[in-house]
Amino acid sequence: MRVYNFAAGPSTLPLPVLKQAQAELLDYEGTGMSIMEMSHRGKTFMAVNQEANSLLRELMNIPDDYSVLFVQGGASQQFAAVPLNLMKNGKADYIVTGNFAAKAYEESVKYGDTAIAASSKDADYTYIPDMKNITFREGIDYVHTTYNNTIFGTRYTELPKTSSVLVSDMSSCILSEVVNVKDFGLIYAGAQKNIAPAGLTIVIVRKDLLGNASPVCPTMLNYSIQDKNDSLYNTPPTFPIYVAMLVFKWLKSLGGVSAMQKINEEKAKILYDFIDNSSFYTNKVNKKDRSLMNVPFFAPTEELNAKFVSEATANGLVSLKGHRVVGGMRASIYNAMPLEGVKSLIEFMKKFEMENK
Ligand SMILES: *Cc1c(COP(=O)(O)O)cnc(C)c1O
Repeated sequence: MRVYNFAAGPSTLPLPVLKQAQAELLDYEGTGMSIMEMSHRGKTFMAVNQEANSLLRELMNIPDDYSVLFVQGGASQQFAAVPLNLMKNGKADYIVTGNFAAKAYEESVKYGDTAIAASSKDADYTYIPDMKNITFREGIDYVHTTYNNTIFGTRYTELPKTSSVLVSDMSSCILSEVVNVKDFGLIYAGAQKNIAPAGLTIVIVRKDLLGNASPVCPTMLNYSIQDKNDSLYNTPPTFPIYVAMLVFKWLKSLGGVSAMQKINEEKAKILYDFIDNSSFYTNKVNKKDRSLMNVPFFAPTEELNAKFVSEATANGLVSLKGHRVVGGMRASIYNAMPLEGVKSLIEFMKKFEMENK
């Protein structure tokens, strides 16, 4: 039996995509083998690679002067790759809005003169700093942001005011809402939240930023080399790229990112409204900054949090335990989580509240 899986990542994938992958597993398009078993340089896989790339371009309306790279190492690898590729002047500013943002900053320190321009650590990352109050240093190569903060459940609704290159980690929100790619010099995302199985990382980079990699930048992390080789410098994660292609097709069939955004807004709204109207559950995030994708919430006591998670699991609502640094519960409601899944969660929350008030 399929459950409603609220995991933060790796996370639930669309059922039609899983069914298609299953149907094609033994024989992909008459080749007599699965996509996993064939050369990444053969024409069958090359076509998949190409199609995944062009579907992502179409879905995000990515201009021609941007490269789309399919790489490995996760978003965490990009914490190093970004400074190694973009630090022409050796200087960058970071906005720290959560654990991953802090990790990105800590990694960057190894490669240049980086500084924290703003942070919301003072309030346990429950808000996004006011963009109006942030000033950046002169001569920086980029400003690094984390668009959606997976662990704490916050998201940017406004971009930093800077003429410098904007870099954003969109691991947990890519394709969940419309963004204007032109506002960013570079976007990166681990695929395992909103796109595909773990193993694929997506980098969208403006082409004029290529060619400035540090001499010590590892070949595999060098965006120009990945770009010149159509992301086929070495063996790419072929199966995740194939599933990404299926997910992109699925998303397109539903009307693309703007249609998905409406569904995501509705899912998030009914859940936040329910929490806000309840005297039992709480969410500590500044309302304006609440994530559409990750919703942390708490029952009145630690004991009830634990009871909630275990009873929810028994009812087919799984992976609701909050991240260890936040505690409580967290519902990750990515693109592939249907509205019915969120409604089922709310029904369960009502019942649990009645029984435990
Ligand atoms: C999950 C996540 C990461 C880490 O991703 P990996 O692919 O595991 O390295 C980084 N940033 C954000 C915002 C995330 O949600």
